[in-house]
Amino acid sequence: MNETDIHKELFEHTKELADHYLLNTYSRYNVAFRYGVNELLFDFDNKQYIDFHCGVAVTNLGHADPDIIEVVRSQADKLFHTSNLFYSEEAAKLAELLILNSFPGKVFLTNSGTEAIEGAFKLARKYATSKSVVDPIILSLEKSFHGRSVSGMSLTGQDKIRKGYGELLKGIEFIEPNNDEALVAAFERYQGRIVALIEEPILGESGIIPLSNSFLTLSRELTAENDALLIFDEIQTGIGRTGTLFAFETMGFSPDAMTLAKGLGSGFPIGALIVGEKYQDLFTQGSHGSTFGGNHLAAAIAYETIRIIQTREILNNVNLCSDIAFTRLNDMKERYPVISEVRGKGLHIGVVLKVPSRPIAEACLAAGLVVNATADNVIRIMPPLTISSDFLNQGLDIFESVLKQN
Ligand code: PLP
Repeated sequence: MNETDIHKELFEHTKELADHYLLNTYSRYNVAFRYGVNELLFDFDNKQYIDFHCGVAVTNLGHADPDIIEVVRSQADKLFHTSNLFYSEEAAKLAELLILNSFPGKVFLTNSGTEAIEGAFKLARKYATSKSVVDPIILSLEKSFHGRSVSGMSLTGQDKIRKGYGELLKGIEFIEPNNDEALVAAFERYQGRIVALIEEPILGESGIIPLSNSFLTLSRELTAENDALLIFDEIQTGIGRTGTLFAFETMGFSPDAMTLAKGLGSGFPIGALIVGEKYQDLFTQGSHGSTFGGNHLAAAIAYETIRIIQTREILNNVNLCSDIAFTRLNDMKERYPVISEVRGKGLHIGVVLKVPSRPIAEACLAAGLVVNATADNVIRIMPPLTISSDFLNQGLDIFESVLKQN
Protein backbone atom coordinates (compact mmCIF):
# COMPACT_ATOMS: atom_id res chain seq x y z
CA MET A 1 0.00 0.00 0.00
CA ASN A 2 1.30 3.45 -0.83
CA GLU A 3 0.99 6.38 1.56
CA THR A 4 -2.21 7.72 -0.03
CA ASP A 5 -3.92 4.35 0.33
CA ILE A 6 -2.83 4.10 3.97
CA HIS A 7 -4.29 7.53 4.68
CA LYS A 8 -7.53 6.65 2.86
CA GLU A 9 -7.84 3.50 4.93
CA LEU A 10 -7.15 5.41 8.15
CA PHE A 11 -9.86 7.89 7.30
CA GLU A 12 -12.36 5.17 6.38
CA HIS A 13 -11.58 3.39 9.66
CA THR A 14 -12.06 6.65 11.60
CA LYS A 15 -15.43 7.14 9.93
CA GLU A 16 -16.52 3.59 10.69
CA LEU A 17 -15.60 3.96 14.36
CA ALA A 18 -17.28 7.35 14.68
CA ASP A 19 -20.47 6.23 12.94
CA HIS A 20 -20.61 3.10 15.06
CA TYR A 21 -19.70 4.46 18.47
CA LEU A 22 -20.50 8.17 18.63
CA LEU A 23 -24.10 9.22 19.19
CA ASN A 24 -25.60 10.41 15.97
CA THR A 25 -26.12 14.06 16.99
CA TYR A 26 -24.12 15.77 14.24
CA SER A 27 -24.44 15.89 10.48
CA ARG A 28 -20.72 15.48 9.74
CA TYR A 29 -18.90 16.52 6.58
CA ASN A 30 -16.91 13.82 4.86
CA VAL A 31 -13.50 14.90 6.11
CA ALA A 32 -11.23 14.60 9.15
CA PHE A 33 -8.41 17.05 9.75
CA ARG A 34 -5.08 15.83 11.05
CA TYR A 35 -3.19 19.05 11.67
CA GLY A 36 -3.32 22.78 11.15
CA VAL A 37 -1.02 25.77 10.81
CA ASN A 38 -2.59 29.17 11.46
CA GLU A 39 -5.28 29.59 8.75
CA LEU A 40 -4.62 26.23 7.10
CA LEU A 41 -5.93 22.75 7.84
CA PHE A 42 -4.71 19.46 6.37
CA ASP A 43 -6.70 16.24 6.06
CA PHE A 44 -5.58 12.58 6.03
CA ASP A 45 -4.42 12.93 2.41
CA ASN A 46 -2.47 16.08 3.26
CA LYS A 47 -4.94 18.06 1.20
CA GLN A 48 -4.79 21.72 2.22
CA TYR A 49 -7.86 23.73 3.26
CA ILE A 50 -8.16 27.40 4.11
CA ASP A 51 -10.02 27.67 7.40
CA PHE A 52 -12.91 30.17 7.35
CA HIS A 53 -14.67 28.20 10.07
CA CYS A 54 -12.36 28.13 13.09
CA GLY A 55 -14.19 25.23 14.71
CA VAL A 56 -17.28 27.49 14.94
CA ALA A 57 -15.53 30.71 16.00
CA VAL A 58 -13.17 29.01 18.45
CA THR A 59 -9.62 28.94 17.06
CA ASN A 60 -9.42 32.72 16.77
CA LEU A 61 -5.61 32.61 16.88
CA GLY A 62 -5.50 29.97 14.17
CA HIS A 63 -3.94 26.55 14.61
CA ALA A 64 -0.66 25.78 16.36
CA ASP A 65 0.14 29.29 17.54
CA PRO A 66 3.70 29.00 18.97
CA ASP A 67 2.92 31.02 22.12
CA ILE A 68 -0.19 28.94 22.85
CA ILE A 69 1.80 25.74 22.34
CA GLU A 70 4.47 27.06 24.68
CA VAL A 71 1.98 27.90 27.44
CA VAL A 72 0.32 24.46 27.07
CA ARG A 73 3.72 22.79 27.40
CA SER A 74 4.97 24.82 30.32
CA GLN A 75 1.69 24.66 32.26
CA ALA A 76 1.35 20.91 31.57
CA ASP A 77 4.81 20.47 33.05
CA LYS A 78 3.68 22.26 36.22
CA LEU A 79 0.05 21.48 37.02
CA PHE A 80 -3.21 20.65 35.20
CA HIS A 81 -5.78 20.65 37.94
CA THR A 82 -6.21 21.03 41.65
CA SER A 83 -9.80 22.30 42.11
CA ASN A 84 -11.64 25.48 42.90
CA LEU A 85 -11.28 24.65 46.60
CA PHE A 86 -7.74 26.06 46.39
CA TYR A 87 -6.34 29.33 45.14
CA SER A 88 -4.98 29.24 41.61
CA GLU A 89 -2.53 31.80 40.29
CA GLU A 90 -3.68 31.14 36.72
CA ALA A 91 -7.41 31.54 37.45
CA ALA A 92 -6.83 34.66 39.56
CA LYS A 93 -4.71 36.31 36.86
CA LEU A 94 -7.22 35.43 34.16
CA ALA A 95 -10.11 36.87 36.19
CA GLU A 96 -8.17 40.10 36.73
CA LEU A 97 -7.38 40.36 33.00
CA LEU A 98 -11.03 39.79 32.05
CA ILE A 99 -12.29 42.41 34.49
CA LEU A 100 -9.66 45.01 33.57
CA ASN A 101 -10.71 44.63 29.94
CA SER A 102 -14.49 44.52 30.36
CA PHE A 103 -16.30 46.14 33.30
CA PRO A 104 -15.87 46.18 37.09
CA GLY A 105 -17.15 42.99 38.68
CA LYS A 106 -16.19 39.37 39.27
CA VAL A 107 -15.75 36.24 37.20
CA PHE A 108 -16.99 32.65 37.41
CA LEU A 109 -14.97 30.27 35.22
CA THR A 110 -16.66 27.40 33.39
CA ASN A 111 -15.83 24.66 30.85
CA SER A 112 -18.13 25.75 28.05
CA GLY A 113 -20.47 28.39 26.77
CA THR A 114 -23.53 26.47 27.91
CA GLU A 115 -22.22 26.42 31.47
CA ALA A 116 -21.58 30.15 31.36
CA ILE A 117 -25.20 30.56 30.23
CA GLU A 118 -26.34 28.28 33.04
CA GLY A 119 -24.54 30.62 35.44
CA ALA A 120 -26.22 33.65 33.87
CA PHE A 121 -29.61 31.97 34.14
CA LYS A 122 -29.01 31.14 37.80
CA LEU A 123 -27.84 34.72 38.39
CA ALA A 124 -31.14 36.04 36.99
CA ARG A 125 -33.10 33.66 39.22
CA LYS A 126 -31.04 34.66 42.26
CA TYR A 127 -31.70 38.28 41.43
CA ALA A 128 -35.44 37.58 41.25
CA THR A 129 -35.31 35.85 44.64
CA SER A 130 -33.30 38.70 46.17
CA LYS A 131 -35.99 41.17 45.05
CA SER A 132 -38.87 38.82 45.97
CA VAL A 133 -40.30 39.08 42.46
CA VAL A 134 -43.37 36.90 42.01
CA ASP A 135 -43.47 35.05 38.66
CA PRO A 136 -40.22 36.55 37.33
CA ILE A 137 -39.70 36.84 33.59
CA ILE A 138 -36.45 36.61 31.66
CA LEU A 139 -36.63 38.13 28.19
CA SER A 140 -34.73 36.54 25.34
CA LEU A 141 -34.84 36.95 21.56
CA GLU A 142 -36.51 34.93 18.85
CA LYS A 143 -33.84 33.22 16.70
CA SER A 144 -31.32 33.41 19.56
CA PHE A 145 -29.01 30.56 20.52
CA HIS A 146 -27.77 30.05 24.07
CA GLY A 147 -26.73 26.41 24.28
CA ARG A 148 -28.08 22.90 24.60
CA SER A 149 -28.64 22.31 28.32
CA VAL A 150 -32.19 22.65 29.59
CA SER A 151 -31.67 26.29 30.64
CA GLY A 152 -29.74 26.97 27.39
CA MET A 153 -32.56 25.50 25.28
CA SER A 154 -35.15 27.32 27.37
CA LEU A 155 -33.45 30.64 26.60
CA THR A 156 -32.99 29.74 22.92
CA GLY A 157 -35.60 31.19 20.57
CA GLN A 158 -35.56 28.43 17.96
CA ASP A 159 -38.11 25.61 17.83
CA LYS A 160 -35.73 23.25 16.05
CA ILE A 161 -33.39 23.34 19.08
CA ARG A 162 -36.17 23.06 21.69
CA LYS A 163 -38.47 20.45 20.23
CA GLY A 164 -38.64 16.88 21.52
CA TYR A 165 -37.62 17.56 25.11
CA GLY A 166 -40.99 18.14 26.71
CA GLU A 167 -41.77 21.22 28.70
CA LEU A 168 -38.82 23.55 29.12
CA LEU A 169 -38.24 26.09 31.87
CA LYS A 170 -41.01 28.59 32.49
CA GLY A 171 -40.76 32.35 32.87
CA ILE A 172 -38.97 33.09 29.61
CA GLU A 173 -40.55 35.29 26.94
CA PHE A 174 -39.22 35.93 23.44
CA ILE A 175 -39.04 39.25 21.58
CA GLU A 176 -38.42 39.71 17.89
CA PRO A 177 -34.83 40.95 17.39
CA ASN A 178 -34.57 44.63 16.43
CA ASN A 179 -38.25 45.26 17.12
CA ASP A 180 -38.03 48.30 19.41
CA GLU A 181 -41.81 48.51 19.91
CA ALA A 182 -42.06 44.87 20.93
CA LEU A 183 -39.34 45.41 23.53
CA VAL A 184 -41.10 48.46 24.97
CA ALA A 185 -44.41 46.57 24.96
CA ALA A 186 -42.87 43.62 26.84
CA PHE A 187 -41.56 45.87 29.61
CA GLU A 188 -45.04 47.45 29.87
CA ARG A 189 -46.85 44.10 29.81
CA TYR A 190 -44.71 42.48 32.50
CA GLN A 191 -44.14 45.52 34.67
CA GLY A 192 -42.15 44.69 37.79
CA ARG A 193 -41.65 41.07 36.72
CA ILE A 194 -38.77 41.30 34.23
CA VAL A 195 -35.51 40.42 35.96
CA ALA A 196 -33.23 40.02 32.96
CA LEU A 197 -32.88 40.49 29.22
CA ILE A 198 -30.35 38.25 27.46
CA GLU A 199 -29.04 39.08 23.99
CA GLU A 200 -26.29 38.06 21.58
CA PRO A 201 -25.09 41.40 20.13
CA ILE A 202 -24.96 39.57 16.79
CA LEU A 203 -27.15 36.47 16.61
CA GLY A 204 -24.65 33.88 15.43
CA GLU A 205 -26.23 30.47 14.93
CA SER A 206 -29.30 31.92 13.23
CA GLY A 207 -27.17 33.45 10.51
CA ILE A 208 -25.20 36.49 11.78
CA ILE A 209 -28.05 38.91 12.51
CA PRO A 210 -26.61 42.10 14.07
CA LEU A 211 -28.74 43.89 16.63
CA SER A 212 -29.30 47.52 15.64
CA ASN A 213 -27.80 50.35 17.70
CA SER A 214 -31.28 51.57 18.59
CA PHE A 215 -32.39 48.13 19.83
CA LEU A 216 -29.21 47.70 21.87
CA THR A 217 -29.46 51.19 23.39
CA LEU A 218 -33.14 50.63 24.17
CA SER A 219 -32.24 47.32 25.79
CA ARG A 220 -29.79 49.12 28.06
CA GLU A 221 -32.25 51.92 28.88
CA LEU A 222 -35.22 49.67 29.61
CA THR A 223 -33.28 47.20 31.75
CA ALA A 224 -31.79 50.08 33.76
CA GLU A 225 -35.18 51.77 34.23
CA ASN A 226 -36.84 48.51 35.24
CA ASP A 227 -34.12 47.21 37.51
CA ALA A 228 -33.45 44.22 35.27
CA LEU A 229 -30.12 42.67 34.33
CA LEU A 230 -28.84 43.21 30.82
CA ILE A 231 -26.90 40.05 29.97
CA PHE A 232 -24.83 39.90 26.81
CA ASP A 233 -24.03 36.47 25.46
CA GLU A 234 -20.66 37.20 23.84
CA ILE A 235 -19.74 33.54 23.54
CA GLN A 236 -19.47 33.97 19.77
CA THR A 237 -18.89 37.72 19.36
CA GLY A 238 -16.24 37.98 22.08
CA ILE A 239 -12.45 37.52 22.04
CA GLY A 240 -11.79 39.84 19.11
CA ARG A 241 -14.18 38.32 16.56
CA THR A 242 -15.95 41.60 15.75
CA GLY A 243 -12.85 43.83 15.80
CA THR A 244 -12.81 44.74 19.51
CA LEU A 245 -12.04 42.35 22.35
CA PHE A 246 -15.77 42.34 23.20
CA ALA A 247 -18.57 43.50 20.90
CA PHE A 248 -20.15 45.68 23.60
CA GLU A 249 -17.11 48.00 23.57
CA THR A 250 -18.41 49.99 20.60
CA MET A 251 -21.86 50.52 22.12
CA GLY A 252 -21.00 53.22 24.63
CA PHE A 253 -22.29 51.19 27.60
CA SER A 254 -21.65 47.85 29.27
CA PRO A 255 -23.97 45.02 30.18
CA ASP A 256 -24.56 43.89 33.78
CA ALA A 257 -23.28 40.40 33.02
CA MET A 258 -21.57 38.73 30.07
CA THR A 259 -20.94 35.15 29.00
CA LEU A 260 -17.80 34.08 27.15
CA ALA A 261 -16.38 30.80 25.81
CA LYS A 262 -15.36 29.69 22.28
CA GLY A 263 -12.30 31.84 21.40
CA LEU A 264 -11.35 32.32 25.06
CA GLY A 265 -9.32 29.11 25.17
CA SER A 266 -8.00 29.04 21.58
CA GLY A 267 -9.56 25.58 21.25
CA PHE A 268 -9.06 24.45 24.83
CA PRO A 269 -12.43 24.25 26.62
CA ILE A 270 -13.08 27.18 28.94
CA GLY A 271 -15.89 29.68 29.44
CA ALA A 272 -16.62 32.55 31.78
CA LEU A 273 -19.49 34.43 33.31
CA ILE A 274 -18.62 38.01 34.18
CA VAL A 275 -20.94 39.62 36.72
CA GLY A 276 -20.97 43.40 37.17
CA GLU A 277 -20.10 44.71 40.63
CA LYS A 278 -23.66 45.67 41.54
CA TYR A 279 -24.67 42.01 41.23
CA GLN A 280 -21.46 40.20 42.13
CA ASP A 281 -22.60 39.24 45.64
CA LEU A 282 -25.75 37.45 44.47
CA PHE A 283 -23.74 34.23 44.30
CA THR A 284 -22.56 33.33 47.78
CA GLN A 285 -20.27 30.54 48.96
CA GLY A 286 -21.70 27.16 47.99
CA SER A 287 -24.41 28.62 45.75
CA HIS A 288 -22.68 27.70 42.49
CA GLY A 289 -19.65 25.66 41.50
CA SER A 290 -17.73 23.56 39.00
CA THR A 291 -15.09 20.85 39.36
CA PHE A 292 -13.10 21.67 36.25
CA GLY A 293 -14.14 25.29 35.58
CA GLY A 294 -11.04 27.39 34.90
CA ASN A 295 -8.48 24.82 36.03
CA HIS A 296 -4.77 25.71 35.91
CA LEU A 297 -4.26 24.57 32.32
CA ALA A 298 -7.43 26.12 30.89
CA ALA A 299 -6.90 29.43 32.70
CA ALA A 300 -3.25 29.68 31.64
CA ILE A 301 -4.23 29.18 27.99
CA ALA A 302 -7.07 31.71 28.19
CA TYR A 303 -4.79 34.28 29.80
CA GLU A 304 -2.23 33.78 27.04
CA THR A 305 -4.96 34.04 24.38
CA ILE A 306 -5.99 37.50 25.57
CA ARG A 307 -2.39 38.59 26.08
CA ILE A 308 -1.58 37.62 22.48
CA ILE A 309 -4.61 39.49 21.11
CA GLN A 310 -3.53 42.60 22.98
CA THR A 311 0.19 42.51 22.28
CA ARG A 312 0.30 41.42 18.64
CA GLU A 313 -2.05 44.05 17.25
CA ILE A 314 -4.35 41.28 16.12
CA LEU A 315 -7.42 43.51 16.25
CA ASN A 316 -5.85 45.74 13.56
CA ASN A 317 -5.60 42.66 11.36
CA VAL A 318 -9.27 41.84 12.02
CA ASN A 319 -10.32 45.30 10.87
CA LEU A 320 -8.03 45.24 7.83
CA CYS A 321 -9.18 41.77 6.75
CA SER A 322 -12.79 42.65 7.53
CA ASP A 323 -12.61 45.55 5.02
CA ILE A 324 -11.17 43.24 2.37
CA ALA A 325 -13.80 40.57 3.01
CA PHE A 326 -16.81 42.92 3.07
CA THR A 327 -15.63 44.76 -0.07
CA ARG A 328 -15.18 41.53 -2.00
CA LEU A 329 -18.35 39.86 -0.71
CA ASN A 330 -20.47 42.94 -1.45
CA ASP A 331 -18.95 43.01 -4.91
CA MET A 332 -19.88 39.31 -5.35
CA LYS A 333 -23.40 40.17 -4.23
CA GLU A 334 -23.65 42.62 -7.15
CA ARG A 335 -22.47 39.99 -9.61
CA TYR A 336 -24.07 36.77 -8.31
CA PRO A 337 -27.84 36.92 -7.79
CA VAL A 338 -27.58 33.84 -5.53
CA ILE A 339 -26.38 36.17 -2.73
CA SER A 340 -29.19 38.15 -1.14
CA GLU A 341 -27.31 39.83 1.72
CA VAL A 342 -23.88 40.19 3.31
CA ARG A 343 -23.98 41.08 7.00
CA GLY A 344 -21.96 41.07 10.20
CA LYS A 345 -18.98 42.82 11.68
CA GLY A 346 -15.24 42.23 11.86
CA LEU A 347 -14.53 38.64 10.89
CA HIS A 348 -18.00 37.50 11.93
CA ILE A 349 -19.66 37.47 8.53
CA GLY A 350 -22.86 35.96 7.18
CA VAL A 351 -23.53 35.56 3.47
CA VAL A 352 -27.26 35.02 3.00
CA LEU A 353 -28.03 32.90 -0.05
CA LYS A 354 -31.17 32.27 -2.07
CA VAL A 355 -30.32 28.56 -2.05
CA PRO A 356 -29.58 26.06 0.76
CA SER A 357 -26.14 26.70 2.21
CA ARG A 358 -25.10 23.13 3.03
CA PRO A 359 -24.37 22.08 -0.60
CA ILE A 360 -22.38 25.31 -1.04
CA ALA A 361 -20.33 24.52 2.08
CA GLU A 362 -19.74 20.99 0.73
CA ALA A 363 -18.60 22.36 -2.64
CA CYS A 364 -16.25 24.80 -0.85
CA LEU A 365 -14.82 21.92 1.17
CA ALA A 366 -14.16 19.91 -1.99
CA ALA A 367 -12.39 22.96 -3.40
CA GLY A 368 -10.22 23.44 -0.28
CA LEU A 369 -12.14 25.97 1.80
CA VAL A 370 -13.85 25.32 5.14
CA VAL A 371 -16.93 27.47 5.76
CA ASN A 372 -19.92 26.98 8.03
CA ALA A 373 -23.47 26.47 6.76
CA THR A 374 -26.04 27.70 9.23
CA ALA A 375 -29.72 28.71 9.41
CA ASP A 376 -30.52 26.74 6.20
CA ASN A 377 -29.34 29.42 3.78
CA VAL A 378 -26.45 31.31 5.39
CA ILE A 379 -22.72 30.74 4.91
CA ARG A 380 -20.86 31.89 7.98
CA ILE A 381 -17.35 33.17 7.30
CA MET A 382 -15.19 33.23 10.44
CA PRO A 383 -11.49 32.97 9.59
CA PRO A 384 -8.84 33.20 12.30
CA LEU A 385 -8.19 36.75 13.48
CA THR A 386 -4.59 36.10 12.45
CA ILE A 387 -5.33 35.25 8.81
CA SER A 388 -3.05 36.83 6.20
CA SER A 389 -4.68 38.96 3.52
CA ASP A 390 -3.18 36.54 0.97
CA PHE A 391 -4.98 33.49 2.32
CA LEU A 392 -8.11 35.55 2.95
CA ASN A 393 -8.15 36.49 -0.75
CA GLN A 394 -7.39 32.92 -1.82
CA GLY A 395 -10.27 31.66 0.32
CA LEU A 396 -12.60 34.28 -1.14
CA ASP A 397 -11.47 33.23 -4.64
CA ILE A 398 -12.53 29.66 -3.86
CA PHE A 399 -15.86 30.88 -2.47
CA GLU A 400 -16.43 32.93 -5.62
CA SER A 401 -15.57 30.01 -7.91
CA VAL A 402 -18.15 27.87 -6.07
CA LEU A 403 -20.80 30.61 -6.29
CA LYS A 404 -20.16 30.97 -10.02
CA GLN A 405 -21.32 27.41 -10.48
CA ASN A 406 -24.59 28.01 -8.62
N1 PLP B 1 -24.21 31.01 23.21
C1 PLP B 1 -23.86 31.29 21.94
C2 PLP B 1 -24.10 32.67 21.40
C3 PLP B 1 -23.26 30.32 21.14
O1 PLP B 1 -22.93 30.61 19.87
C4 PLP B 1 -23.02 29.04 21.69
C5 PLP B 1 -22.43 27.97 20.87
O2 PLP B 1 -22.50 27.96 19.66
C6 PLP B 1 -23.40 28.79 23.01
C7 PLP B 1 -23.99 29.79 23.74
C8 PLP B 1 -23.14 27.45 23.64
O3 PLP B 1 -21.76 27.29 23.86
P1 PLP B 1 -21.10 25.83 23.98
O4 PLP B 1 -21.35 25.11 22.71
O5 PLP B 1 -19.65 26.11 24.28
O6 PLP B 1 -21.74 25.15 25.15
